[in-house]
Amino acid sequence: MPGMADVTGDSFSASLIRGAFLAQTRWKAMKSRTARRYMELHALSASLELFKPGAVVPWVSYLFPTELLASYGITPMIPEIGAATLTGTDLRGPVESAADRMPLARDVCSYHRIALAAVENDMLPAPTMCLGTTPLCLGKECLLEMLALRYDAPFREIRVPLPPDEVEASSEVVADVAEQMRVLHEDIGRWTGRKPDLKKAIGLSNRASAAWGRVMAERLAGRLEMNGRRTFATVFLGQLLWGTEEGARDFERLLTERGRSDLLAPALDEGRRLKRLLWLHTVPHHDSEIFEMMERRGAVVIFEEMGQMHLETVDPDDPFPGLARRLTDNVLWGSSTRRARLNVALAKRLKVDGAVHFNHWGCRHGLGSLPVVRSAFVEAGIPFLAIDGDALGRGGAQQEKSRQAMESFLELL
Ligand code: SF4
Repeated sequence: MPGMADVTGDSFSASLIRGAFLAQTRWKAMKSRTARRYMELHALSASLELFKPGAVVPWVSYLFPTELLASYGITPMIPEIGAATLTGTDLRGPVESAADRMPLARDVCSYHRIALAAVENDMLPAPTMCLGTTPLCLGKECLLEMLALRYDAPFREIRVPLPPDEVEASSEVVADVAEQMRVLHEDIGRWTGRKPDLKKAIGLSNRASAAWGRVMAERLAGRLEMNGRRTFATVFLGQLLWGTEEGARDFERLLTERGRSDLLAPALDEGRRLKRLLWLHTVPHHDSEIFEMMERRGAVVIFEEMGQMHLETVDPDDPFPGLARRLTDNVLWGSSTRRARLNVALAKRLKVDGAVHFNHWGCRHGLGSLPVVRSAFVEAGIPFLAIDGDALGRGGAQQEKSRQAMESFLELL
């Protein structure tokens, strides 16, 4: 790749560049001592290990129970996080050009297009195993299966039936998913030749869950207002750290005022009240302007649909049913009717002034449920806006249109 700094290869210069990047991130974490900065540091540091020769590199879906990997001291490679991270660095241009050259339809979710282009052009490490979960979408299962074939790596999928609309998944379904996880956990040991310590990983994951569950309970009760966009980004990265010592400590940092100081929602002067919004689905990772404009106009995202995960601890002596329940009853899994019901209930509980749905380009899962979600909000009398965009996009006509739509929505509120 002419003109591009080699930051991902095995060379000495590549490891120097990676070392400098890591040192900069470490300095930021030590200076601020916040959960957000430490999570950035620990996610980066764990991910850089994946670039070392001979590393075990499991490409996994976003909701994969990473404790099954932490049990063996293995870090996951999550394509959505890899794609969002790369497009926020100097590699954005090269990875976008590589994605444009691929023989792939434009309607494929950009998280997957970018991740595929990145691995094929040595910007992300190649998989040594591919582990999916049917939640949330078919696209990433296709990506994982295709990569497994190309790189001659094993592919496994935890298959999870859709939950009923009104009640929890049945105990039979949970038992079936738990059994799939148990078998997969054993297989990972066979493939890697490593010894597991699932109890330790679950203990660390539970520390993180207990902390995150407390923070979310405070937010739901209205006693704590956090900036939903930044919180989303932090929890998004945190996916790499469940089941690790660093993850436990970083989520626990959220319990202190200092640790969450850069995640709090802004307050307005002179007692003016902010318009409080609920954000549905993913966020435009690289478009801070829309959120800055919202704040200038006295509005803030105080809660994010996707932060609702890992809120309960699991039984360390019998962890698989608890890990399974996180998938079978995930808030974004199931029918559009279920998603709409849960989100309207959430909006009412938070007493938000409105909800915003981000229509990420290429996401059939998100876009497909939009009409049902929208009518549920309209019926409940809660202002609702859907804006189009690409979660990895930056600038451009579409983002300008979305900003205008947001401005009009805020005026209406
Ligand atoms: S945005 Fe949609 S299509 Fe893309 S990874 Fe997420 S659920 Fe899948």
